[in-house]
Amino acid sequence: MNWEVVIGLEIHVQLNTQSKIFSSAATAYGADANTQACAVDIGLPGVLPVLNKAAVRKAVQFGVAVDAEIASQSVFARKNYFYPDSPKGYQISQFELPIVGKGELTIDLEEGSKTIGITRAHLEEDAGKSLHEDFVGMTGIDLNRAGTPLLEIVSEPEMSSAKEAVAYMRKIHSIVRYLQISDGNMQEGSFRCDANVSVRPAGEKTLGTRTEIKNLNSFRFIERAINHEVERQIDVIESGGRIVQETRLYDADDDSTRPMRSKEEANDYRYFPDPDLLPVVIEEALLAEVKAQMPELPHVRTLRYQDSYGLALEEAQQLTVSQESAAYFDAVVTVVPESAKLIANWVCGDIAAKLKQDELSIEQSPVNAEAMAQLMQRIADGTISGKTAKDVFQAMWASQTSADDIIQQQGLQQISDVGELEALVVQVVEDNPKQVEQYLSGKDKVFGFFVGKLMQMTKGKANPQQVTDLLKAKLVRD
Ligand code: ADP
Ligand code: MG
Repeated sequence: MNWEVVIGLEIHVQLNTQSKIFSSAATAYGADANTQACAVDIGLPGVLPVLNKAAVRKAVQFGVAVDAEIASQSVFARKNYFYPDSPKGYQISQFELPIVGKGELTIDLEEGSKTIGITRAHLEEDAGKSLHEDFVGMTGIDLNRAGTPLLEIVSEPEMSSAKEAVAYMRKIHSIVRYLQISDGNMQEGSFRCDANVSVRPAGEKTLGTRTEIKNLNSFRFIERAINHEVERQIDVIESGGRIVQETRLYDADDDSTRPMRSKEEANDYRYFPDPDLLPVVIEEALLAEVKAQMPELPHVRTLRYQDSYGLALEEAQQLTVSQESAAYFDAVVTVVPESAKLIANWVCGDIAAKLKQDELSIEQSPVNAEAMAQLMQRIADGTISGKTAKDVFQAMWASQTSADDIIQQQGLQQISDVGELEALVVQVVEDNPKQVEQYLSGKDKVFGFFVGKLMQMTKGKANPQQVTDLLKAKLVRD
């Protein structure tokens, strides 16, 4: 039987406000436990929540970026459940009237692009954290995270592979970082996702029963977790079983999912409008202001790079994944506009590899855009070959010295002097009569031998184009 995979994602984005969504406690990550939780966050009786304007604005920014309907009035609701890290006994969220309504997002895949529907995005408060590691036989509770603003972005069940889900998640990640509404730090949990997964026989119209994999916080894990869950579901069904709607946890250590709890019905939460909070009203003026200030978004920038510089989609996407990397590229291209394609190659290749190896972000690159521009200039003006540039780059990275200084110190300038090169060509031809004969009698491959010899004699510094031209002129077949 052929199976079709259906995936819908719920992405939780921590908004990067200074203070919490309903209190003035700080949101900074990593403080000592329970030092950033005030009376509102720990749910003491008699306190009232006050909505953080910045969180609302950030939600609106996201909505505008995905062409969504922005609700002129939205409502906060209480989602009632008991959990030790949520001392109020309910979470303030939005239910019937979320701030962001239907929108959409286009993802780019090898096979082409696909538009995924966004069902809604709503504001809510994060819960605290249960700490299991430092306590024997007990659980610690840290309420620093309680009340941190979250934007939960819910997709339609319209993705049909783990790859699509990852592409969608990456796109959202890129957008929230462009908008600077979240730091997107996945290790710290600022960007995490629940994946709803089901399968159905190919061609079937109704959806299969889904499971929900909770709290995936890396692109690699989400792909692996979904693939595993799909396999598991197919196995269960093909061996005569039935999928139970439940929440599952992905265990990265043994690369599998296991049940966490069976799914509560939505109405078990007994949502009702929070009587402590007024409806959120979005004025036309705010909407207009957000629209006017929208930055150039990643997909628009990707298109621009493809059009203006002839870059391949993948490269353009890699460059525009963050504003920082696009800005780096732009800064180098401004200096050496004729080398845009080459620069893209370097940024996506050598630089990306080095950054990854040293675990640095592009803003921390030891070779900054200005230094890189000089290196690209030296290739463009023929001072060094592309091959030598690789060595110069390694030296620049290690010593933070400029390209010009390294070329000077190590005497790496290309030999482009025709007289000098011609003399060498004559010598190579004279020293290797056997190869000359072979070449002249039709063995094209031997040409490479001569080029190699010349490069050897000049320690790779001969201008390769000139060497080729001079050799061709010298070794003329009748
Ligand atoms: P809940 O809030 O209880 O998790 P929702 O109905 O809001 O449930 O759905 C949450 C997510 O699950 C959405 O992203 C939706 O697209 C997705 N989803 C719903 N049904 C299915 C299904 N049968 N298979 C895969 N994903 C689904
Ligand atoms: Mg859910």
